[in-house]
Formats: sequence, structure tokens, C-alpha cells
Amino acid sequence: MTLLFKRDMTDPEPWLAALSRQIPECEIRVFPDLEPRGDIEYALVYDPPPGMLASLPNLKAIFSLWAGVDHLAGDSQLPPVPVIRMVELGMTASMTVHVVQQVLNLHTRAIDYRQYQAERRWKMLDPTAPWDRRVGFLGLGTLAQDAAEKLVGLRFDVAGWSRTPKQIEGIQCFHGEDGLAELLARTNILVCLLPLTDETGGILNKQLFAGLPRGATIVNCARGGHAVEADLLDALDSGQLSAAALDVFNEEPLPENHPFWVHPRIIVTPHIAAFSIPETAIESVAQNIARIENGESPLYVVDFDRGY
Ligand code: NAP
Repeated sequence: MTLLFKRDMTDPEPWLAALSRQIPECEIRVFPDLEPRGDIEYALVYDPPPGMLASLPNLKAIFSLWAGVDHLAGDSQLPPVPVIRMVELGMTASMTVHVVQQVLNLHTRAIDYRQYQAERRWKMLDPTAPWDRRVGFLGLGTLAQDAAEKLVGLRFDVAGWSRTPKQIEGIQCFHGEDGLAELLARTNILVCLLPLTDETGGILNKQLFAGLPRGATIVNCARGGHAVEADLLDALDSGQLSAAALDVFNEEPLPENHPFWVHPRIIVTPHIAAFSIPETAIESVAQNIARIENGESPLYVVDFDRGY
């Protein structure tokens, strides 16, 4: 059995070590070492060159190195094998830490207190109890659900919105177009954890911001393409939004002259919200390879018709 590995920007060594430890029966090829192509049965990849995967005649499954699969969207010739997104404990845990951190920053008015510190000003703002702070998630998938549950544990009032109806203990669930308006109307801190699809691109726009209570805040840790950046700046400047914590951007790296860098109401992080941990990620890959080899259906298969 041979697996092709094509890395993202992270150090490949821990990945290769985890692969040899956890799937010792698997020969590992590192892109661009493809020959002989007929040996390759599995591919674990980030951003493959268009047509490369289709040139592997015996491929059984494609594993995305990232949770989102938008990096595969540029390849119009993906072969007809299951594409599996990355679902693994390290990714989920790191995203939860990021979301909780940013929700707490916004809840505790960290931006204001930083500003007061810079001005050497001793000023107290009225506190808000966590149960009076309404957090709303766009998306209620693997990552959002874990973060939402941890915020419930901190006693926040949490709701979420998904494509299909859901029931999750302690979380008010909305779905569909009407559901979005209801979620927005009750949200003080909006967290975007949607996949980037034809339906969700540009969803963080003027119209959506207008549906939030005045002074609401947002956290975008999904994809830059979810936000219309000019609308976001307008909403912040008009006071419709009072702050934003942004991890993802239309253009990455965020250009040096971009207004987000210096905006007093924006927290910028450089697309670091969540990251796979090689050991736990390869555990998930190994589990799915074993399922396929045993004739079972793999888990976490992408449905390209719905876009995620
Ligand atoms: P997931 O498990 O596939 O969950 C996606 C959620 O979005 C589901 O609840 C789905 O609804 C909902 N959704 C999709 N399209 C929708 C629509 N049109 N209307 C309403 N709801 C919709 O995905 P995940 O693993 O949680 O990851 C979410 C995204 O996070 C990824 O796609 C990726 O872009 C982003 N991400 C970012 C980072 C980072 O470092 N910034 C790291 C990892 C992931 P249903 O439940 O009804 O299907």
C-alpha cells in the first residue's frame, strides 16, 4: 500500500514520522515523487496541482490535510473516489481554544481595556454576566459544536444555525433562511464556522450585519471569502458592529497596507485558529484507511453537491 503526501506550509517531518509509526505497512511518497503512479492508493494532500490526483490510476481515497476542502476546488478533474475532510481531535481542540479565547476577549471588552492601558487610564466598564451574553454560531458542524458546548459550560447563552435541523442539548438551534434572521436577532457575539461554498461565500455582509442588534461583535475563523471586507469596515465605522476578531482574510497573508491591521476595533490573527496535530490527524487517517481496506464506508466524506 502506498500513500502520497503533499504538505501544506507546515514541517512535513512530524507527519512522516506519525505515518510510519501508525501505518507501518504503508510506503510513503512525498510529492513530487509520483512514480510509479500505479502504486499510489491513498493521497493525503493540501492544494494538489490540477489533474495530479486524476493521474493516479489506482487511487482509492483522497484525504484533505485541512478541515475545509476549498483548496481542492481548483481541481476540476478530481477522480471519482471519496474525498475525506480532516476531522481530528487536535484540530477540534485548537479551534475550540481559539473561539473561546476570542469570545472571552469580546465579552470582557479586551480591546477597550488595551486601549485604556495604552492611555494609562483607570476606567471600568459595566460588566455583563455570561448568561446575558448571547453567542450565535453560523454552522453547527464538528468544530462549531465543540466550541459551542464549551461556551455553554462557561454559562454563555448559546445558539447556532445550520443547513439542516438539529437538536443539541443546551444550544438553541436554528436552520434555513428564517432561522438565520432569528439567530441574528438574538446574537451579541456572532461566530462564523461555516464551510466556504457557493451558498456561504460573502455571507458576512451589510445585510447580515443589519440583522444583528446594534453593537454586536463577530468572530470569523472560517474563511476570508465569507466576509465582504468593505461591508465589515462600514459596519464597524458606523457602530452597527462594535468589534471583530478575524483569523481569515480575502487575501492571505493580509497585505501590509490593509486597513484591518490598524483598525482599533479589530483583532487580527494570521489564520492560526486551528491546526492539525500530526499524531491525532494520522490516527483519523489510519482509522479511515482500515475501514476502506475492510470494505466499510469511510467517515467524513465530502458531498461536493452540497459543497462540503
Ligand atoms: P462541518 O462539520 O462540515 O460543518 C459545517 C456546518 O456548516 C454544518 O453545521 C452545516 O450544516 C453548516 N452549513 C453548511 N452550509 C450551510 C448553509 N448554506 N446554511 C447553513 N448552514 C450551513 O465543518 P467543520 O469541520 O466544523 O469546519 C467548518 C469550517 O471551518 C471549515 O470548512 C473551514 O473552512 C473552517 N476552518 C478554519 C480553520 C482556521 O484555522 N481558520 C481551521 C479549520 C477549519 P449541516 O449540519 O446542516 O450540514
